[in-house]
Amino acid sequence: MSETKKAVTIYDTTLRDGTQGEGFSLSGLDKLRLARVFDEFGVDYIEGGWPGSNPKDIEFFEKAKTLDLKHAKVAAFGSTRRADMKVEEDPQIRLLLEAETPVVTIFGKSWDLHVTEVLKTTLDENREMVRDSVRYLKAAGREVVYDAEHFFDGYKANPEYALSTLEAAADGGADILVLCETNGGCLPSEITAICEVVRARIPGTPFGIHTHDDCDLGVANAVAAVEAGAVQVQGTINGYGERTGNCNLTSVIPILELKMGKPVVPDLSRLRELSYFVDDISNNPHFARAPFVGRTAFAHKGGMHVNAVEKVAHSYEHIEPELVGNRQNILVSELSGQSNILIKAEQLGVGLEKGSAEAKAVLAKVKELEKEGYSYEAAGGSLELLIRRETREYRKPWALSEYHCSFRQYRDGHPPVCEATVKLQIDGHKEYTAAEGHGVVNALDKALRKAVRPYFPAIDDVKLVDYKVRIIEGEVATAAKTRVLIGHSDGEHIWGTVGVSDSIIEASWIALTDGMDLFLQRQRGWH
Ligand SMILES: [Zn+2]
Repeated sequence: MSETKKAVTIYDTTLRDGTQGEGFSLSGLDKLRLARVFDEFGVDYIEGGWPGSNPKDIEFFEKAKTLDLKHAKVAAFGSTRRADMKVEEDPQIRLLLEAETPVVTIFGKSWDLHVTEVLKTTLDENREMVRDSVRYLKAAGREVVYDAEHFFDGYKANPEYALSTLEAAADGGADILVLCETNGGCLPSEITAICEVVRARIPGTPFGIHTHDDCDLGVANAVAAVEAGAVQVQGTINGYGERTGNCNLTSVIPILELKMGKPVVPDLSRLRELSYFVDDISNNPHFARAPFVGRTAFAHKGGMHVNAVEKVAHSYEHIEPELVGNRQNILVSELSGQSNILIKAEQLGVGLEKGSAEAKAVLAKVKELEKEGYSYEAAGGSLELLIRRETREYRKPWALSEYHCSFRQYRDGHPPVCEATVKLQIDGHKEYTAAEGHGVVNALDKALRKAVRPYFPAIDDVKLVDYKVRIIEGEVATAAKTRVLIGHSDGEHIWGTVGVSDSIIEASWIALTDGMDLFLQRQRGWH
């Protein structure tokens, strides 16, 4: 797909507008991992945050410089200059430039009421603020996205004024004017009509759309804008965002591709995986009824003869589920299930033959574990290990006899202590080690390293960088289970592993040891 032929670009604001949502918060590391995954998926712009609003975002932009993204451009977000201040003296504008991103997105006021009542300035001064700020950032060599906040409500209140703020941004040299449906209250027909006016009035500058989901119309409104000529869609993965959320890119992207014939990403079949990845990293449950990517999006209740269901089901589906990486949920197709595993194995350089006993064993294992509550979207390390374990090249690094850990709370002010012991065999030698830590996982990690270090000194290159716990409802078991996701890093790569158990300690142990085992398998030189 040629870049220049792309009819619509995707502007992801999960890391900025998405984090305005309740229950959706990301650490600095989470943001970097997500940025990398968004880039691999093929979004065109990644809005990283607002450098003027918090130091965490400044740190993100600092680290984002080392990400070496293949396709996406990183955007810093901020506002126009303040009223009655020179643009070059505005500290917030300075921070935007210091973020050193190729793209800067600034929002400005389009609604006269907001100008006079919120900004407490004049309508003329607001227009100058827009023009000045855009022009200044353009002169600094940035691609400038102008977000016209409250554009549709502003247009309804005072169309001439709202349009004149867009003209000011276009006059300042904005690369694109993004019409924001900030309050989420407009209907698609209104979006269409207003977009058509903008297009006719300012033909020289392209426009994009930013919508919110307050009327459950975030996606519909974005689609209406594209039909009326918008060339950029802003939104978030899974629709995360404040109140009821932003326009859901996980729905808009397949609609653009499959319903409107507008190619936007190189491989749409990775959509479901991306959706789960964002849920897992933000520690949110997956929404089963999500269009396209949800667990039940292509589920059909049985009752019919199996063969009939297989034949008929397709006539009850609006697209082939595989196009978005999903699958029909009555009969998990043996073949498509297998081909996913084969692709993963091929990426790993592990030869798994289609239909072979090894491939079947891996698939059976994955299905069994998924029923127990495992999911591999953010735990590629565990999936890789599972595949490796079924191959002849796999060598078990140790044989565990037992482990134990305890937590001791004092009442005299002494900080609590966790103690762990590990008994295992390596190369025919028995190892029995103990360690103290400031938490259960930390103590187990230390005791395990103590036992393993003499045989594999490289183990000290691996650090735990992330630890997430979630209670899940197992499909088979009626009782809730604990799922632990651990992120490991050797300084160069990050890989995730997963453990599921009734016990948080056992779930942690599984994820912890998977991470180390995989590292040793990748080392290759150890035996
Ligand atoms: Zn927004």
